[in-house]
Amino acid sequence: MAESQSGSSDHSANGEPRTNFIEQIILGDQADGRFERRVHTRFPPEPNGYLHIGHAKSICLNFGLAEKFGGRCNLRFDDTNPVKEEAEYVEAIREDVRWLGFDWEDREYYASDYFEKLYQWAVQLIRKGVAYVCDLTAEEIRQYRGTLTEPGRNSPYRDRPVEENLDLFRRMRNGEFPDGSRTLRAKIDMASANLNMRDPVMYRILHAEHHRTGSQWCIYPTYDWAHGQSDSIEGITHSICTLEFENHRPLYDWFLDQLGVHHPRQIEFARLNLTYTVMSKRKLLELVQEGHVRGWDDPRMPTICALRRRGYTPESIRAFAERIGVAKFNSTIEIHVLEQCLREDLNRRAARAMGVLDPIKIVLTNYPEDQVEQLEAVNNPEDPSMGTRTVPFARELWIERNDFMEDPPRKFFRLAPEKEVRLRYAYIIRCDEVIKDPRSGAVTELRCSYDPQTRSGMPNQRKVKGTIHWVSCAHAIPAEVRLYDHLFTVPNPGAQGDWRDELNPQSEQVLRRCYVEPSLQSAEAGARYQFERLGYFCVDPDSTSERLVFNRSVTLRDTWAKIQKKQTGQPARSK
Ligand code: ATP
Ligand code: MG
Repeated sequence: MAESQSGSSDHSANGEPRTNFIEQIILGDQADGRFERRVHTRFPPEPNGYLHIGHAKSICLNFGLAEKFGGRCNLRFDDTNPVKEEAEYVEAIREDVRWLGFDWEDREYYASDYFEKLYQWAVQLIRKGVAYVCDLTAEEIRQYRGTLTEPGRNSPYRDRPVEENLDLFRRMRNGEFPDGSRTLRAKIDMASANLNMRDPVMYRILHAEHHRTGSQWCIYPTYDWAHGQSDSIEGITHSICTLEFENHRPLYDWFLDQLGVHHPRQIEFARLNLTYTVMSKRKLLELVQEGHVRGWDDPRMPTICALRRRGYTPESIRAFAERIGVAKFNSTIEIHVLEQCLREDLNRRAARAMGVLDPIKIVLTNYPEDQVEQLEAVNNPEDPSMGTRTVPFARELWIERNDFMEDPPRKFFRLAPEKEVRLRYAYIIRCDEVIKDPRSGAVTELRCSYDPQTRSGMPNQRKVKGTIHWVSCAHAIPAEVRLYDHLFTVPNPGAQGDWRDELNPQSEQVLRRCYVEPSLQSAEAGARYQFERLGYFCVDPDSTSERLVFNRSVTLRDTWAKIQKKQTGQPARSK
């Protein structure tokens, strides 16, 4: 589905740069002189998992707005829940944001740095008579809250005297009470139509170690109490969050109004959903912990570290964020839109190379035994500045098994008995003889002859219809190649039952007997190539000096779009 028609192009019909609805709000604030015309955003991840492509959208949005308006963007770790958070995630988040190309300079903050300030502010609200210590259990609080159609009931502790509240809150902090025995709640309105306004909890008791504050605290602020106040402390002007916080906004505003402090504007946008994947951190954690994937950076995962390992470029992810735009309503983006962004970027930048994934040997019977020619090959036809390289050509070559057919249909323009084909950057060859395993009947080798008059680049050449890729057997480097498909077999996993039943058993295919051209000998992990006719590939960190390992980042063409076109007669949306 098109999430945002307005986000699909950088410019409107009259050539003006488009502005999305958030930019329009900011422009309006600036016109009104609000926030001294400053723009200060933040990206506030909770360090309880690795970042995914949805977070990338939020990162691009927040840092992008700051860039566009000459403002700033903070990185703030929203570390108010000691139980699920780990320092490991903090480091990974930093690395991912940096890799995407954004710089928070010295503005790295932690909600936990504000615990003392938040405590003092809570005391202030108690003194004001708008917060109280409540002895109801979590379950009782839920029962008292009411429903969307029924008002809630006041807690029996709601009218506690201020002095008693102050005393109990102090003793909560001092660790005198067990987990879950008391909370601090805002005194707002148990009959509010908005459930978030029915005396929401501000603090809960939790005797747990925190990754930064250790055992200093045994009461922890809730998201609602911590978030807006953290924004205020940092001087944030526009606090951008996903739609599910829309009905938290009255509470966001209420706290800041009660405190009478700097009051940022909260703006909500639709979170990113992608077909054929799951995006919630909980499900991603389960995928890892239950061993459905090899780890957070398994190239099939939608995490940023996995996309990086798969061969995604930061530029392609930023282009994707730009292309899908921001909207006010939830929708799901086709995963091939993301793939297309990578394809477009790599087409411009990736060096071409030849690799054979499923090899069959050909022997050029009329080629001198010891001869090796160094043939010139173009590194990137899209970018002449990338120059050329040489590839060695010799008597024995590997070609792709499916580039040969013993009994081909009429329009098969590759190799077949007594048929000719061009070898890329080299000669026209003819298949003279097919050698088979006498027992299995499988084709094991092809005897061919080459035409010395047809070397690539020579003038006045005769033409043949097909061109195939190859590597010289004596020079080829052995490689393992991992091909990927979607992690799930259905567009919306988990919509009907357990997503585990919808995992794609063929999401990874490992080919262990591949060969690549010798110029890739010293390719380093992370290097990206287009293997001619096969797709874009990235060197995996599992590579050793004996054997290169490649991940296929994306195929050359958008086969999904083609399938869709066939089925519907309509081109698939890729822009
Ligand atoms: P999840 O629901 O996957 O656990 P979360 O929202 O709890 O994610 P946070 O670490 O709190 O994860 O998110 C940090 C920021 O990233 C928030 O501002 C959140 O709104 C934004 N964000 C998270 N998921 C998405 C998404 N799918 N699309 C856009 N923004 C997202
Ligand atoms: Mg969250």
